[in-house]
Amino acid sequence: MTNQAALAGAEEMIARIRTYSFEEYADRVRSFHGYEAVGVIIGGFMVDLACRHFSEGMIYDAISETPKCLPDAIQLLTPCTTGNGWLTVVNLGRYALTFYDKVTGEGVRVFVDPARLDSWPEIKSWFFKLKPKKEQDELLLMKQVRDAGAGICGIRNVTVALPFLQNKRRGGFAVCPRCGEGYPVADGRICLGCREQKLYEHETDTRVDAREET
Ligand code: ZN
Repeated sequence: MTNQAALAGAEEMIARIRTYSFEEYADRVRSFHGYEAVGVIIGGFMVDLACRHFSEGMIYDAISETPKCLPDAIQLLTPCTTGNGWLTVVNLGRYALTFYDKVTGEGVRVFVDPARLDSWPEIKSWFFKLKPKKEQDELLLMKQVRDAGAGICGIRNVTVALPFLQNKRRGGFAVCPRCGEGYPVADGRICLGCREQKLYEHETDTRVDAREET
């Protein structure tokens, strides 16, 4: 092996998450998520793996199958956010994401594969909550996360189901007869806020004018 080849090999050993080094990404996670959450770091490797299956500049939508941590990795590393609607969070409780073509529904799904966790005992005990948080070796956990990268993940080709794609395209707004606010017609006769479990104990008009307070 030439020196150059050896160098190139060493370069590949450095964990990268999209355009970031591992440390740069950990920094971004800290400022966006509030702390260096293991889930968002693993999520970064998952996003990186999924992105390798799309050519640069290709437009895709994203699904996160959990509301915890993973949506932040997707929002940090792709143009997909819950706000712009390109990221949909579906709470299935699985640590998995899918990037897909919004017209055809074809895409890739990346998930944490329990079978692959056997080589990484600290990640395994964190993932399955096998020991109390205070007994966790944080340094060893982060080292294993870094060394494992996307190696703990499985990846599959998927086609997103048609009703889900159609549901994303639903249009039309109406005024809810109960609360008087706008809501998607497709939700039914009244808005979800009035139909589902009560979100607020009290709701009254506020007459406090901030300008008069000072
Ligand atoms: Zn309503």
